[in-house]
Amino acid sequence: MRFSGLRVLREGLTGNKGWAPHWRDAEPKAEYDAIIIGGGGHGLSTAYYLAKEHGLTNIAVLEKGYLGGGNVGRNTTIVRANYFLQGNSEFYSHSLKLWEGLEEDLNYNVMHSQRGLINLFHSDGQRDAFARRGNAMINQGDDAVLLDRDGVRKHLPYLDFDNVRFPIYGGLLHPRGGTARHDAVAWGYARGASDRGVDLVQQCEVTGIDIENGQVRGVQTTRGAIRAKKVGIVVAGRSGQVAAMAGMRLPIESHVLQAFVTEGLKPCIDHVVSFGMGHFYISQSDKGGLVFGGDLDFYASYASRGNLPMAEHVMEAGMTLMPMIGKAKVLRSWGGIMDMTPDGSPIIDKTDTKGLFIDCGWCYGGFKAVPGSGFSFAHLMATGNHHAPAAKYRLDRFRNGVGLMDEEGTGSQHNLH
Ligand SMILES: Cc1cc2nc3c(=O)[nH]c(=O)nc-3n(C[C@H](O)[C@H](O)[C@H](O)COP(=O)(O)OP(=O)(O)OC[C@H]3O[C@@H](n4cnc5c(N)ncnc54)[C@H](O)[C@@H]3O)c2cc1C
Repeated sequence: MRFSGLRVLREGLTGNKGWAPHWRDAEPKAEYDAIIIGGGGHGLSTAYYLAKEHGLTNIAVLEKGYLGGGNVGRNTTIVRANYFLQGNSEFYSHSLKLWEGLEEDLNYNVMHSQRGLINLFHSDGQRDAFARRGNAMINQGDDAVLLDRDGVRKHLPYLDFDNVRFPIYGGLLHPRGGTARHDAVAWGYARGASDRGVDLVQQCEVTGIDIENGQVRGVQTTRGAIRAKKVGIVVAGRSGQVAAMAGMRLPIESHVLQAFVTEGLKPCIDHVVSFGMGHFYISQSDKGGLVFGGDLDFYASYASRGNLPMAEHVMEAGMTLMPMIGKAKVLRSWGGIMDMTPDGSPIIDKTDTKGLFIDCGWCYGGFKAVPGSGFSFAHLMATGNHHAPAAKYRLDRFRNGVGLMDEEGTGSQHNLH
């Protein structure tokens, strides 16, 4: 079924009776050429690109819950390519280019909105750091504009410029940054993969990984054993647990990250804005809710809900920056489980077990990576070679210390990234 304006019009006039389910809810087969563990954004995009780019269609995505029920449906939807370090810079640049053609590619409205992202700075030192970051972005072929205080005021007149502890010195504008509708991204990739013959198997938890003589043979699941020549682990916050099934100990800690949304309001915030002197960022959803968040809860946990001290910190930072939001009522808050690496950068690599691959460590920034990660991981699984933009995401950098990408400059401590 192809979506188009004409189709919407026809269905509207004929009682909306012609819509079909977007993907097949498949029963698991006994054997596949490849299995993807995890039906989040990265697992679904990997399956899609395996089928589309490499013609591999005898594959299954095994999801323990329902498609899109993990972090891909829990994030604050920011999409950007404003990374500083080599390795990250080219990867996120590639991912953003895929985003820019995604709706056409998937024939699905993922509501990608390049409304511009502004990172505020509040000191001379921060201005220097953002000037360097902006230059790195431009060198990579992406866009960046350094704004002074008046430049920020023109874009964001509602900020408190006058009566604050941390005055706004300026901001780095990334015009192609923005947001996308998170669950639509999962649904669009699911539909595209399913249309190409991929089995999407929900309520199917992987409980073991079968390995014989150093070669992966398949997986054990709550719906029986399934054999496969290749297996990709793409389970975000559960990476450590699933990798342990193959005898691996990952350099990953799982931490909680919270987000918040207010009641729907008339359009008032038309960019993505982040505060430079406290962890707070915000955008307005297409339904009108102000969507905002802050930092990790600072302790390792598998609970997908957070605690009040971080909620209080986020609210305080928001009120400092834009006191007007004090009038909005918070409707909901929730948490997700983040797979934090020591240098804050991800892993897309083979493992020591033949046929077993891993894609993880996306920390709190993996939504924008969904297209790029799926594309690069599919390339690695299909060809055995690293895809150039993701070539630096090696697992062994944490063993030998070579090639660490410490984007935030906070050192090798999980809970500081
Ligand atoms: C509050 C919050 C805000 C965020 N904001 C942003 C943002 O603005 N921009 C951005 O780029 N990123 C953001 N992120 C990060 C981003 O959401 C994640 O990095 C990314 O979604 C992780 O990849 P995923 O989509 O594949 O994960 P998930 O959707 O979590 O997918 C993993 C899947 O694996 C499944 N699974 C786990 N174990 C098993 C098993 N044993 N068997 C079968 N299936 C299994 C899970 O059920 C889950 O569905 C945010 C995250 C949170 C929580």
